[in-house]
Amino acid sequence: MSSEPSSSNQLPNQPTDINAARKFAVPNRLAGKVAIVTGASSGIGQAIAIRLAAEGAKVVIDYIGRAEGAEDTSQAIAQAGGTATIVQADVTKLEDIEKLVAETYNRFGRGDILVNNAGVEKGADFWEVTEADYDLVMNVNLKGAFFLSQAFVRRLIAAKQPGRIINISSVHEDMVFPHFASYAASKGGLRMLMRNLAVELGPHNIAVNNVAPGAIITPINKSLLDNKQQLQALLNNIPLGRMGTSAEVAGLVAYLASEEAGYVTGSTFILDGGLIRNYHEQ
Ligand code: NAD
Repeated sequence: MSSEPSSSNQLPNQPTDINAARKFAVPNRLAGKVAIVTGASSGIGQAIAIRLAAEGAKVVIDYIGRAEGAEDTSQAIAQAGGTATIVQADVTKLEDIEKLVAETYNRFGRGDILVNNAGVEKGADFWEVTEADYDLVMNVNLKGAFFLSQAFVRRLIAAKQPGRIINISSVHEDMVFPHFASYAASKGGLRMLMRNLAVELGPHNIAVNNVAPGAIITPINKSLLDNKQQLQALLNNIPLGRMGTSAEVAGLVAYLASEEAGYVTGSTFILDGGLIRNYHEQ
């Protein structure tokens, strides 16, 4: 375990990702940039916030619910000499979205990178899915990314500034996910939103891409990690034989946020240990 603050939502027996998130950071690659990361109080969003800050970006840590997770992210960044601020904003609410973008400009004077990471999943047989669960999944995963991207680009277009939008979608933007129909539909929607925006925003020098993780060790997968049989069945389907880490996802996001990726837009980048090439129904 790291001696640094560990996130209180770390899974049992899982070491903190904080050092791993920084390990391959390219110093100053994002110097002068301001990044908003949604759902940055845990898991992949936390690692992304830490990684972008380690590369020199000022980071806006968005969270809902668990303030202590956002504090963990903020402390990890500050201890490494980075700069971050915390904003509580529910991405399903347009007034919160406006507040998140306004606070970004109030505190840091600009916005360059938006990472739409916040996401939820609800498992159920298709015929049992409730309207409330459907609405929650679609509103967080798709509507949130849609309207936050809109609020973000309005500022960029008005100021004639370039920008980057990176959505954390999933292999399930393309691959079926039985018993998670609303999740798969939301991520499939995110794929087409990304493609559409890449074309529409390209002339404004705003690049839009998706990162599609496979099975990553984070709180969203707690029940899977607690079920040894189900976990082994999944690992048998992953050619590299293991789950991925939040830090590995964060590294790809940092590249897409950087100038090095200046000619990259309209694409999904899969990070799944080969899972999508080798799926069998569990
Ligand atoms: P996680 O549960 O740790 O992270 C999700 C975050 O979203 C949490 O911090 C949560 O508080 C936040 N959130 C939920 N609703 C919100 C709202 N209304 N407003 C703002 N924030 C909200 O799990 P994670 O695995 O880190 O998930 C991050 C993203 O990665 C999600 O979009 C998820 O779908 C995607 N993803 C995860 C995996 C995986 O295996 N872990 C695989 C593919 C894709």
